Amino acid sequence: MFKAIVIDKDDSGYRATLKDVEDSALPPGDVTVRVAYSTINYKDGLALTGKSPVVRKFPLHAGIDFAGTVQASDDARFKVGDEVLLNGFGVGESHSGGLAQKARVKADWLLPLPAGLSARQAMAIGTAGYTAMLCVLALERHLVLPENGDVLVTGANGGVGSIAITLLAKLGYRVVASTGRLQEADFLKSLGAAEVIARDELSAPGKPLAKERWAGVVDSVGSHTLANACASTRYGGTVAACGLAQGMDFPGSVAPFIMRGITLCGIDSVMAPMPVRKAAWRRLAAELDLARLETLTREIPLGDAVQAGADILAGRIRGRVVVNVNA
Ligand code: NDP
Repeated sequence: MFKAIVIDKDDSGYRATLKDVEDSALPPGDVTVRVAYSTINYKDGLALTGKSPVVRKFPLHAGIDFAGTVQASDDARFKVGDEVLLNGFGVGESHSGGLAQKARVKADWLLPLPAGLSARQAMAIGTAGYTAMLCVLALERHLVLPENGDVLVTGANGGVGSIAITLLAKLGYRVVASTGRLQEADFLKSLGAAEVIARDELSAPGKPLAKERWAGVVDSVGSHTLANACASTRYGGTVAACGLAQGMDFPGSVAPFIMRGITLCGIDSVMAPMPVRKAAWRRLAAELDLARLETLTREIPLGDAVQAGADILAGRIRGRVVVNVNA
């Protein structure tokens, strides 16, 4: 038996509950992992509350990421005792996931825990932080360099936003943080933001083109914010779009693309190919300031995960929440 947050949907409704489950409840897979830590990402919030139909199989153990130790393996790439990490690949959506003391997955989905990171640190980064690094890599690929100008980070107090600020500041960028929680400005500056602006400067319907302000953008918000971020990106700049906290729509204009030559990069963490993941995690292990990571991280026991899922959707979470599944 082991503990898991089980998502059920039946005649009595949709619910996420902490339960004791049998090993036989684990899905097929090559590698069984004793999970040490998981996390609460925005998508976990959607899965735990049922607010959006991200879970496609019932019953299912929640949790789109985890880090832990291999307990059994039928795959030569992983042996008992290896420390591993998983993000995405439909885990926590269509395959039982990491908000559980055990998980069984395909070996193809696992990464060795990067040298220099503990399981807890890897999950303090989690899918949100790995996505932030995918955004930074996209800006770099499009030659957004610190000397080109400011980089805007939207949804600044969130998981993606707070880690993006930490990474970009360490890399020498001047970061402008956009937030609906101006009372957290000192926290955002402690992560490395040079300037903090109010969310509502960008969240209302705007013009096709606005004053050129940023060389690059990491956007975890979508909707009007993404459209306005594009409209205010400097000539030749790049916007990395990864999120939808404001909405899934993109009520923008082609003007920034055809008149300022800006690039809009889509960022997907779930099905990103292994070489991309490895590059992102290598950079995270080498370059993320782990002391700053700790300042934006809070740890909770597995029993508090369902409430934390509701809290992240309500915008009540600052930074990252790691879940100690054995506490
Ligand atoms: P969080 O909830 O931690 O962060 C989202 C932040 O967005 C909030 O903290 C808040 O920041 C801001 N926000 C919330 N609601 C609104 C709103 N209505 N309008 C404008 N801003 C808002 O989530 P994550 O950081 O985990 O994820 C962020 C987004 O990125 C989500 O949409 C998620 O689905 C997406 N994502 C996508 C991935 C991919 O593979 N493409 C992977 C990971 C995440 P503040 O209070 O500072 O304004």
